Amino acid sequence: MIRCEAVQDRILMRCRRQSLHGALDPASNVSPSCLCLNVADELPRYEGAVASVASELVSDVLRFVPVAIFLIILMGSIAAFASSLTILYTNDIHDRLGSLAGLSELIEQERSSGSPVLLFDSGDTWQDFRVPLYAVWGADKMVAWMNRVKYDAMEIGNHDLYYGADRLAAISSKIEFPVLCSNMVPFPGYKAPYAPYTIIDAGGMRVLVIGVITAEYLSYPDYPWLRYVNPAQAIKQVLSETKGQADFVIVLGHLPVAQAARIARAVPGIDVFLTGHSHEITPQPVRQGKTLIVQAGAFGHYLGRLKLQIDPQSGQITSAANSLLETKKTPVALDRGYLKLFTVAALIATSLLLFVLSSG
Ligand SMILES: [Zn+2]
Repeated sequence: MIRCEAVQDRILMRCRRQSLHGALDPASNVSPSCLCLNVADELPRYEGAVASVASELVSDVLRFVPVAIFLIILMGSIAAFASSLTILYTNDIHDRLGSLAGLSELIEQERSSGSPVLLFDSGDTWQDFRVPLYAVWGADKMVAWMNRVKYDAMEIGNHDLYYGADRLAAISSKIEFPVLCSNMVPFPGYKAPYAPYTIIDAGGMRVLVIGVITAEYLSYPDYPWLRYVNPAQAIKQVLSETKGQADFVIVLGHLPVAQAARIARAVPGIDVFLTGHSHEITPQPVRQGKTLIVQAGAFGHYLGRLKLQIDPQSGQITSAANSLLETKKTPVALDRGYLKLFTVAALIATSLLLFVLSSG
């Protein structure tokens, strides 16, 4: 463009010069009296110059095309990397060890997709009265599995507290990722074996993860050093403490979907609410304002998968696709549990026998 104009300017200046001075340019055979004729006569040379400039431009553009394509692909991949987030979620597995191999398989598949993937659990994970056999060794198996598949964080559920404070502390000490709960607050001088929240880096995005628990069926007598705080109030407290430190907010709530919706109404600023406790299935996320609320049933029957596109500038969700991926069941070897139970039963029987013999 610049070159075309330069050529044009040169020709026009030459025409003007000839016209003004009335002199004949020895290089050209045109009449000095007529500027129009002059320009017309110059046209072949002008066209030649334009053609050569145009061909130079075309070759410049062709040289630039591969670079431009590379830059477009690079920028596209950076944008996709920053704005895609997959959240995998479980809740209320309740020590169903037979679901773990199936869950592992699905988690591995999702992680191979390349975009950032986060994995969370919303509690009632390692205890269930309905499978008392697992009380002996199930919790350890659950925790070992969760460490192996590398959960990013979990919220504790009411069932996870039922083994008592000592065992909770022992189990938590083996967990290699953040265990959360922001609304069971220890009295001064006591330390809980969990944290109120954590901040995770997901492909450059700072994700704040807050844990909350229902007040239903809590085993207060075992934890006299804890006080229960309203979940909405606890989340507000964390949001104000962490102001400016996060781009995206996820709440892990061991509480039902309807309660999560009430909390989301009271606390704007939650992007995703992963719930539990009520064993609900949400094929489609429940929307409350900007908050998406989901839950994946119970017993590890499903791995929840929420695929999000997030605007990197505003941090707002621009699209969401939720799926409940069904897991395959695998038989679990129970010999170790039976062996331990048999040993305990034998010890009790022997003690009773010795007591009876000694008192007789
Ligand atoms: Zn529960």
